[in-house]
Amino acid sequence: MSFIAPAGTPVTIRDLASGLAAPGSGASEALRAISGLPHAWSISSGRAAMTIILEAMRQASGDSKRDEVIVPAYTCYSVPASIERAGLRPRLCDVVPATLGTNPEVLRRQDFSRVLAVVSSNLYGLPNDLAGIESVCKEQGVLLLDDAAQALGARVDNRAVGSFGEAGLYSFDKGKVISTIQGGAIVCRPGPVAERLESAIATLPASGLVERVGNALKLGIYSVFLRPTLYPMIRALPFTGLGHTVYKTRFPIARLSNFSTAVATRLIGRLDELASARRRNAAALTAALEGEPGIELIRPLPGSVAAWVRFPLLVSDPDRRARLIAAFERAGIGATASYPRALADVPAVRSRMAPGDTDYPGARRIAQSIVTLPTHAYCPPDLPERVRKVIRECRN
Ligand SMILES: *Cc1c(COP(=O)(O)O)cnc(C)c1O
Repeated sequence: MSFIAPAGTPVTIRDLASGLAAPGSGASEALRAISGLPHAWSISSGRAAMTIILEAMRQASGDSKRDEVIVPAYTCYSVPASIERAGLRPRLCDVVPATLGTNPEVLRRQDFSRVLAVVSSNLYGLPNDLAGIESVCKEQGVLLLDDAAQALGARVDNRAVGSFGEAGLYSFDKGKVISTIQGGAIVCRPGPVAERLESAIATLPASGLVERVGNALKLGIYSVFLRPTLYPMIRALPFTGLGHTVYKTRFPIARLSNFSTAVATRLIGRLDELASARRRNAAALTAALEGEPGIELIRPLPGSVAAWVRFPLLVSDPDRRARLIAAFERAGIGATASYPRALADVPAVRSRMAPGDTDYPGARRIAQSIVTLPTHAYCPPDLPERVRKVIRECRN
């Protein structure tokens, strides 16, 4: 029995070998080229990136009363966890199910009196309305952190996702556009935030030995077993954890190891190839599922090119969603219900969030109805047809 992993990067033996042979720092250079921003640093994770960007923003703002960060009410739990780690509080802004992102008009109506920064989400590699969000931030005098953890290589009007606002981040974790098991990067425009980041990064510790060796071994296993024929053998291992996130504020904030940096550099070099496989699979899934009753596809905004780290869709009825996920599982297709709750319903967030709206209908609807499908290069050509068959059999 084969099983198509929910997400993943086809890392080759040569990618791994290059990590061992050429410990390098080319990742920053490649990220400067992709983002068009002059500052880029690799770091131990996307969470570490978010934490130190927010700390640098706080210092640069010089206004200690500004201790809130506006986040989309439906995003990865690592976002509010990083905000807590930076000593700040999340303020939730509801999102629009049709785009999975922040509506600038809704953002504009938030209470900005204590807000330091706004965070985008670009979930599944689909760009948010970043130009709109950026102009609201300018108008309100707050900073924008463009969270491109899932959107390396995505673009809006030919501008890189991650490059909007003051600073952006990318993640190299397991389910992201490229993977070194753990890892991330920061990009930033010149100015006071970049200066603070420069000095914060200069004093970061090296990543721990156990962490380093562990990640290298896991990456070796991942590179072999991500193939559908082998994936069933490692699915049960806890570290695969593809498609799961937990709220955790304890994580290392360290430099990315030389090995991971070198592998990341290699994979960034293969970005076009990896992206075109995902785009092709997303286009084929769109064509196969267009007009399917009770299934709502998410369209990339006009002018944007998505990274399609997964293929999201909304199912009209929560019971059907549960049955669908189970049916995909039986059919060997790694579908996930993504983040199971809106942030307002995650106890650790609920207890810390700034008082604001009490209702987040958009975020709650997404949490109840989203399904994500795999798009990676190991997806077989008949995936769209198989997906459609499962969806049709699960209609009532
Ligand atoms: C994964 C993710 C992060 C955190 O990145 P890690 O490398 O896993 O720490 C932040 N934001 C979003 C939207 C993510 O998907």
